[in-house]
Amino acid sequence: MLLKSYSKKIFRPECNPGFESVHCIAHLDQYISEVLPYLNAVLGGFDYLKDPPAVIFRSQGKLITVHGDKIAINALRDEAEADKILEWLKREVNDAWANRESIVPCYDGAPKPKVIEILKLLPRTNCRECGEPTCMVFAARMAEGLKGLKDCPPLGAENKLRLEEYMSQFKFEL
Ligand code: SF4
Repeated sequence: MLLKSYSKKIFRPECNPGFESVHCIAHLDQYISEVLPYLNAVLGGFDYLKDPPAVIFRSQGKLITVHGDKIAINALRDEAEADKILEWLKREVNDAWANRESIVPCYDGAPKPKVIEILKLLPRTNCRECGEPTCMVFAARMAEGLKGLKDCPPLGAENKLRLEEYMSQFKFEL
């Protein structure tokens, strides 16, 4: 087992202490940078940073960064959600390490959705119901995994299906 233990710190973002969501930093008691390209290969990280190595995941509006010595997660509902994600990552890290002989390490981020392809399927009325100033900004945030289909109320059923199909190629689920 590579990753045995960590100590976790939960905090509210300093820029807006009134925010509902919390952030988490877990300081790892073992150094895990060697497993990161294997973890990236298995889970398909959104981005892979080479120096120093880190794998970045984006899902459901969350940004999760796994470094050699720590894991940072933002936009969490509560501490229980942080625990769930950390334990899942610990299992994935240890599985990837145990199976590294049969995994081809990956040093690149996964293919990403194209903003223009998302934009083509949006209503393009810039109505702002999603809270973004334009459909283009919304499309860019969706490509980064920070917005989802449900966040655009005027999106029609047919384009919703087409967008769902397009985005499913890039889906990363926690
Ligand atoms: S709610 Fe949909 S249509 Fe309106 S601005 Fe946002 S993305 Fe565009």
